[in-house]
Amino acid sequence: MKKIALTLLASLLLCGCAANGGFSKKDKEIINTSTEGILHVYTIESEDETMILRAKSEDLSRRALKSRDYALLARRMVETVSDTAVGGVGIAAPQIGINKRVVAVQRFDKEGAPFEVYPNIYILDYSEDKKKGPEGCLSVPNERYEVLRSTSVTIRYFDINEGKVVTESVEGFTAVIFQHEVDHLEGIIYTDRVLM
Ligand SMILES: [Zn+2]
Repeated sequence: MKKIALTLLASLLLCGCAANGGFSKKDKEIINTSTEGILHVYTIESEDETMILRAKSEDLSRRALKSRDYALLARRMVETVSDTAVGGVGIAAPQIGINKRVVAVQRFDKEGAPFEVYPNIYILDYSEDKKKGPEGCLSVPNERYEVLRSTSVTIRYFDINEGKVVTESVEGFTAVIFQHEVDHLEGIIYTDRVLM
């Protein structure tokens, strides 16, 4: 009996920690803050926020992706980036203080240019063909610089509707947004890539 109780306690402790691809207590606090209105966007103007922006982000577990917290995070990221005062074309979870691999991207290559959310996203392939273009970032206020980016990329992510990992080729400006946002998940800010 005692042994069973101890095993149960050990598994409870394991599930309780965030290392297995779940949301941490702090992540949940951010996601559930007031549940209305836009989220605070982290910037390089704050030292504490820069620490989060410079950290590598982790994948979410399948279980976390099915949670109410994930659904709320996805909705709130889109609400935040598409807010007229924010006016962005993409946002990554670290920019709202959550080091998990989730980005929201405006799909200019789709009709109506909808914002879509991509969990556990990676870029598998960058085209050798590159082009220079102006970029800005919600985390680097009031700046704009030219960055050299691949003209097409192959992305891999977990498709929530399909319930499986999928790959997709993206081109043009939308491909640039994906590169900018996935960089955030590696702790890279676009100013790192500016050609001097
Ligand atoms: Zn950015």
